[in-house]
Amino acid sequence: MGLLLNHDLCIGCGACMAACPAEALTLEGGEIFYRAEFCTLCGICVGTCPVGALSIVKENALTEDQPVSEGIWVFCETTGEEVQRVSYELLSKARELAKVRGTKVTAVLAGTGIRDKSWGLIDCGADHVLCCDDAIFSKKWDQPYADLVCSLIEERHPEILLIGATPFGRSLAPRIAARIRTGLTADCTLLSIDPEKGLLEQTRPAFGGNLMATIVTPAHRPQMATVRPGIFPVLEQPGSRGSIEVIFAPESSSPFYQLEKIAAQPTEDISQAKVLVVAGKGIGSKKNLKAAERLAELLGGSVGVTRPLVDLGWYEYSHQVGQTGRTVSPDLLISCGVSGAIQHLAGISGAKTVIAINTDPEAPIFSVADYKVVGDCMEVLREMIACLERGESLV
Ligand code: FAD
Repeated sequence: MGLLLNHDLCIGCGACMAACPAEALTLEGGEIFYRAEFCTLCGICVGTCPVGALSIVKENALTEDQPVSEGIWVFCETTGEEVQRVSYELLSKARELAKVRGTKVTAVLAGTGIRDKSWGLIDCGADHVLCCDDAIFSKKWDQPYADLVCSLIEERHPEILLIGATPFGRSLAPRIAARIRTGLTADCTLLSIDPEKGLLEQTRPAFGGNLMATIVTPAHRPQMATVRPGIFPVLEQPGSRGSIEVIFAPESSSPFYQLEKIAAQPTEDISQAKVLVVAGKGIGSKKNLKAAERLAELLGGSVGVTRPLVDLGWYEYSHQVGQTGRTVSPDLLISCGVSGAIQHLAGISGAKTVIAINTDPEAPIFSVADYKVVGDCMEVLREMIACLERGESLV
C-alpha cells in the first residue's frame, strides 16, 4: 500500500498538509511534498483534497487488468542432489487442491545435479516441472533461489505457491513474499481451496496454539503458504505423465559472503520414524527415559518428548514433538505420561495408531488415542519391555 500524489492535479492549496496528523505532507514553494517515512496511511488527506489529487494504492492487489493467475506451484527444496521429502508431501497435497480447483501443478526444482529428480516429482503430483540445474545453487543461500522464484512468478503468475517450512524454506518464503508484495501464512497444518474463487484456506495454530485460524489472501497473488514436514502424506503414482522444462538461473547479485562453515551436529530425524515412544512429564524422572529408549529400540523406533522435558534439559530439542518441535506421522505412537496439550497434539495428528498411557482418565491425550491405558506409564513400559524381551508380541 502507498499514498499516490498526482502532481498534475495538485493545486498546492495545502489542505492535505493541514489535515495530516503525521506531518507526512509539506508545502514548499507552492508544491506539496510527500514523506513516506512519516505516513501512517490513515487516508485523512485523501478525503480533504478538493481536486482528488491523492489516493491510496494497494500494490500487487488484484485488479481487472492484471494477468490471470493460474496453477499451483510447489517450491521443491534440494539438499545436495536429493529432493527433501516435504516437497513430495506438498506436491501430493497440491495435486488434491488442483483437482478441486481444476488447475495444474507445477514443481519448481532448483539445485545442482538434480535434473534426473524431475521424474519423481511428476510421480508425486506435478504436471509440469521447471528445472533449474545450476552451480549457483551449490551453496544453499536464499538469494539466488529467491531471484529465480521471483523472476518466474513475475513472468508466469501462479495462483498459489507452497514451500516446506524447513529452516531454509522459512527463510526463503518471506524473502519471496516481501519482494513480490504478497501475503504469506507460515507453518500451516491444513490446506483447502475454494473451487470457485480459488482462495487458498490456510489453517494454522494461533494465539499460542489455543485456537486454529484459517487465513485467506483475497487481494494478492500468489497466495503463499509454508507447511511443516510430515503434515501431508506422500501419494506416489509411478508412471504419471508430465512435462519438464529446463530453465536458466537469472543473474544474482548476492550480497552474502561465507565467512566460516560450521558443520551441524547430526541429529536423528524423528519426523520419519515409523514407531515413536513419546515421553511426557508423567514419566517422572530423567533416568526413567531409559525405559522409553529401550522400548523404542525393541520396536525399531525412536523417542519423542514433550516440551517440558526439553526445558528441564532431560532430552535434546530435536526430539521435541509438537507445535514448536517436530511434526511426526508414525504408524505407531506410544504416549507415556503426556497430558495432550493442544500444542503437543498439533504435532501428532498424522500418527496412524496412538496408544496412550496416563494415570488421569480425563487426560486430553485420550481424545486422540486408539488404545487407552489408565495407569502408571512406568509399570506399563516395564511390562511391554519384558514381553518383547521374552520374544512375545504386544498384542
Ligand atoms: P504435563 O502437562 O505436566 O502432563 C503430565 C501428564 O502425565 C498428566 O496428564 C498426568 O496425568 C500424567 N501422569 C503423571 N504421572 C503419571 C504416571 N506415573 N503415569 C502416567 N501418567 C502420569 N508442548 C509440547 O509437548 N510440544 C510443543 O511443541 C509445545 N509447544 C508449545 C508452544 C507454545 C506457544 C506453548 C504456550 C506451549 C507449548 N507446549 C508444547 C507446552 C504445552 O502447552 C504443555 O505444557 C506440554 O505439552 C505438557 O507436557 P506434558 O504432557 O509432558 O506435561
